[in-house]
Amino acid sequence: MSGIEGKVALVTGGTGGIGAAICIELAKAGAKVATNYRNQEKAEKWQAEVKEQGFGIKIYQADVSDYGACEKMVAKVTSDLGPVDILVNNAGITKDGMFKKMTKDKWDAVMNINLDSLFNVTKHVVEGMTERGWGRIVNISSINGQKGQLGQTNYSTSKAGMHGFTMSLAQEVARKGVTVNTVSPGYIATEMVMAVPEDIRNQIIAGIPVNRLGTPEEIAALVGFLCSENAGFTTGADFAMNGGQHMM
Ligand code: NDP
Repeated sequence: MSGIEGKVALVTGGTGGIGAAICIELAKAGAKVATNYRNQEKAEKWQAEVKEQGFGIKIYQADVSDYGACEKMVAKVTSDLGPVDILVNNAGITKDGMFKKMTKDKWDAVMNINLDSLFNVTKHVVEGMTERGWGRIVNISSINGQKGQLGQTNYSTSKAGMHGFTMSLAQEVARKGVTVNTVSPGYIATEMVMAVPEDIRNQIIAGIPVNRLGTPEEIAALVGFLCSENAGFTTGADFAMNGGQHMM
């Protein structure tokens, strides 16, 4: 019993690999789940597929790097489903390149989508959570925010920054029944990782003690716990789930 039956959950980037598994995990626990999309065709196809599996997940068009669009998205979710009780900031991108060749465009795109999005979305839901005395916020960071990664100064900076946000906001809202946590996945078998050339992917796997990639469902199970009633004493933490690749 997770205690989130009937709660409203907003998962950003729900049409992607990890986000989809999180949407399904929360829907299985009885939450009313919404997600956003940029690509309408992809999102509608995904929505039809999950409906066939028995999950009715609402989709809303919004770019998480656009503050005004996020405000409108939250207003629509609230009018359709009710106020947001659970927020999973999951949408994210990579635009890799060695720092020497890192362009301002790549830097800004990753900062805006991975980091500014925390402000853009959370800003519109957190006050309602504190007023109602219950809320769960989970920010999906990355192992590379914890250990750094060559070719990812932009991505690692954005992902490390997410946990600073988690720790600070967690302190501000702890007395109001709202928890804020970070989940830092290692390499997970999603399109983002499967797009890495096979020889490089095999080198990555060789460096993971459990000798495999993680699955989106494993990440979703942890997020499901963090969103549950039982997780009320868990806040401001950064949970590594990386097959032992980086032990802190
Ligand atoms: P995917 O590329 O499969 O999915 C990313 C999702 O984010 C998509 O639904 C995409 O929607 C959405 N998205 C991207 N940019 C925006 C934007 N500007 N506004 C709104 N939505 C946007 O990625 P994963 O599922 O692999 O990753 C999910 C999260 O987990 C990311 O934050 C990633 O950094 C993190 N992570 C992933 C790891 C992995 O191994 N896969 C490892 C560690 C962390 P659309 O397609 O419509 O653009």
